[in-house]
Amino acid sequence: MTSSCDIMVVGGGHAGLLTAIALHDCGLQVQVVDPMPAAAIRDAPADGRALALLAGSIAHLEKLGLWDELAPYGAPIRKVEVLDVGSAAKVGYREEDAPARGPFGQGFENRVLRRILLDQFLERAGKGGLVTDRVQAISRDGDRISVRTETGESLAARLLIGADGRGSKVRSLARIGLRRWTYGHTALGFIVRHTTDNGGAVLERMRRGGPLATLPLRSDRTGITWVETDERARQLAAGPSEALLAELAEALDDALGRMELDSPVGTWPLSGQHADRYVAPRLALVGDAAHGVHPIHAQGFNMGVADVASLVGLVRRHKGDPGSPDVLRAYERDRRGPNTRSIWLTDGLARLFSNELVPVAQARGAALTLLDRLTPLRRLAIRRGMGG
Ligand SMILES: Cc1cc2nc3c(=O)[nH]c(=O)nc-3n(C[C@H](O)[C@H](O)[C@H](O)COP(=O)(O)OP(=O)(O)OC[C@H]3O[C@@H](n4cnc5c(N)ncnc54)[C@H](O)[C@@H]3O)c2cc1C
Repeated sequence: MTSSCDIMVVGGGHAGLLTAIALHDCGLQVQVVDPMPAAAIRDAPADGRALALLAGSIAHLEKLGLWDELAPYGAPIRKVEVLDVGSAAKVGYREEDAPARGPFGQGFENRVLRRILLDQFLERAGKGGLVTDRVQAISRDGDRISVRTETGESLAARLLIGADGRGSKVRSLARIGLRRWTYGHTALGFIVRHTTDNGGAVLERMRRGGPLATLPLRSDRTGITWVETDERARQLAAGPSEALLAELAEALDDALGRMELDSPVGTWPLSGQHADRYVAPRLALVGDAAHGVHPIHAQGFNMGVADVASLVGLVRRHKGDPGSPDVLRAYERDRRGPNTRSIWLTDGLARLFSNELVPVAQARGAALTLLDRLTPLRRLAIRRGMGG
């Protein structure tokens, strides 16, 4: 037997759950399919990852009417300080410099954000809103698209949203191609507790191996994303935590005081990717299923939030059929350009800040110095960096 709804979201990660909540709030019947049961998502062990939601994303979430529910779990970013270690060039921003004079964004622990989004969705849609299964096949019939799952269930909807991450099964079932590239670098992600108040600061150190960035999660708790060559990242993750924390303290000039690990140390080999199309008949991709970037510019999920805001806005405006070709064409038009620009900007920064050739390092130092001194350029960088 086939069960039916308006929208089927494949993938209960951040992008999928956010889409599901926002579309449910439009009065549509939404189901999310994810292999993890609700209890496992809620009790997921720490994986060391934290993410910055930039001010542009917060504005989208406010428009969707969802920010008030997420705000208590975020930590405001009040300062950003970027130091290019090789050239000693530095640029700093304070929230007073920002166009709206508010925080640059908010820091969240990944698993906490996912848990809150799950609870928000289940509160609206009930327990039946989440189907614990894995999608294996899709088929279309008139104005319906159906999926078959690993356990043999059949689910139909008017629009299927692929939010199933970088290795998206939905994307490959829809025969949407993918461009993918690697960096030869790995990100270490972990959380530290510390004795000195972080003051809401993001400290970004551009080092020989790649960028190292802090993200406030509370005044005495900070997320660390630390990029190194694959080999060095493996060594650091496998080595004693004392050595890791000592190197971190040195990189941050002891800015956080005494530190201890408050999560395991996770590793993520870094790559970039971009789907050739975001849509197919009765199907749209959002979040990492559509694009994946290097973490240097904190864009990954922020691009996903903008995807969700766009798709939900279009579905709302077109009222009738959420999976109509008009909605899907408009979504592709709306998101491909901005995402392409973010992907290339992020890729450029990632390559610029991991290149140790002397002329490149010198140009990098000069660019940061210029950014620090020229007010219009600083404003532009702030707006761009906030996702505005
Ligand atoms: C070290 C690091 C730091 C980062 N920092 C930032 C940051 O500061 N700011 C930022 O915006 N982004 C950041 N990112 C990126 C961000 O974490 C991702 O963009 C975001 O989590 C992707 O969410 P998603 O929901 O699109 O995909 P995912 O989180 O991958 O979710 C996909 C879901 O789909 C499910 N799924 C997979 N296959 C199937 C199937 N066949 N059927 C059903 N379900 C399926 C999976 O179980 C999963 O739950 C960072 C990433 C890394 C690695």
